[in-house]
Amino acid sequence: MIDIDSMIVSLRLAWLKRIFSENGGTWKSYLCYLLERFGGLFFINCNYDLKDYPKFSQFYYELLSWWTHFRNTFDSERNWCYIIWNSKEIRIGNKPVYYKKYFKSGILFVKDLLFHLNIEESFNCVTRKLSKTNLLMWAGLRHSIPINLKLETPQNSPAPTPILKIKNNTFDVTEKKSRDYYNLLISNKAQFPNATINLRSEFHLSIDQLKQVFILPHSVAFEPYVKAFQYKILNSILFTNVKLHKIGFKESNLCSFCETVPETLHHLLFLCSHSRLFWSNFECYWLSLTNDRIQLSLQDVVVGIISSQNSSLLNLLNFFIIIGKLYLWDCRRDQRYPDLQRFKVRLKMKYEIERFISLKNNNDNFFKKKWIFFF
Ligand SMILES: [Zn+2]
Repeated sequence: MIDIDSMIVSLRLAWLKRIFSENGGTWKSYLCYLLERFGGLFFINCNYDLKDYPKFSQFYYELLSWWTHFRNTFDSERNWCYIIWNSKEIRIGNKPVYYKKYFKSGILFVKDLLFHLNIEESFNCVTRKLSKTNLLMWAGLRHSIPINLKLETPQNSPAPTPILKIKNNTFDVTEKKSRDYYNLLISNKAQFPNATINLRSEFHLSIDQLKQVFILPHSVAFEPYVKAFQYKILNSILFTNVKLHKIGFKESNLCSFCETVPETLHHLLFLCSHSRLFWSNFECYWLSLTNDRIQLSLQDVVVGIISSQNSSLLNLLNFFIIIGKLYLWDCRRDQRYPDLQRFKVRLKMKYEIERFISLKNNNDNFFKKKWIFFF
């Protein structure tokens, strides 16, 4: 299925090929006119912030803003950060700078300001190629360069052409078509969401384990509602009292059960004394059902138990854990303490629902295999 947003952006970015091509055209004259005061088409190479510039037409505004976003996301070399002109990071009087004479003399990158020499020596050097300038202008420009750009500036910056380095390959916009942009944009959309960075570091998960964590709800649950609930946990988007308090929706951020500790997701699902008691009863119930002794950790409860072996027993346990969390979440909403007997009723309901779905989908075998310990 085509991703419409990415397609629209790709079609617009593919205009860069036409813009940088040798061929002229009235449409291009208009863009060149708009950018004339800022270095012409060279502006597109710069580290600009569109807020600093007069309003462009919507077409060019979107093109220029999507281009910076694309470049920020994919380019690993980021040489454009070190271009002096029109840079949002290099400002004089809180405005980006563009000195046409300097630019025409080939002064483009931070390294061209000769920071390895002192101010007089560098000025003497520069006046050899730039006749009409003064020390004040030169010193002011050098002074405006942030320290991080001075320290990190690459010594061999290539000419500022619209060429990026993406995944160790050269990405030359003068050759790229909308399909090339689209493939990259789509590959980025298929990445793990941002919340998974926290998930990985909290539970020390490898990329493979993280993949398993995200596949798990699909392989153990039938109902979309159940799967969606687990994804909300993984993406940390359930509105606990800590979050509701932060947005001014609740006066207190304390736990709905114990009312003594801030209600974070981990506290509610596992660390709270009421939740701990629930999981301890859950472990006893599981033992009586399957003869399998377990001791659940915070990680087991939050992301599930991941294993390289696909076992029916483990799948059922992971499913029960998700239903257990759903049950805790409903208890929170209904303002009652968790109770194992009610949880068992909930499981029985799930059993009936899944039996119904499997009969409807002619998937009886899968159902029986999954629930074998429950008969
Ligand atoms: Zn609590």
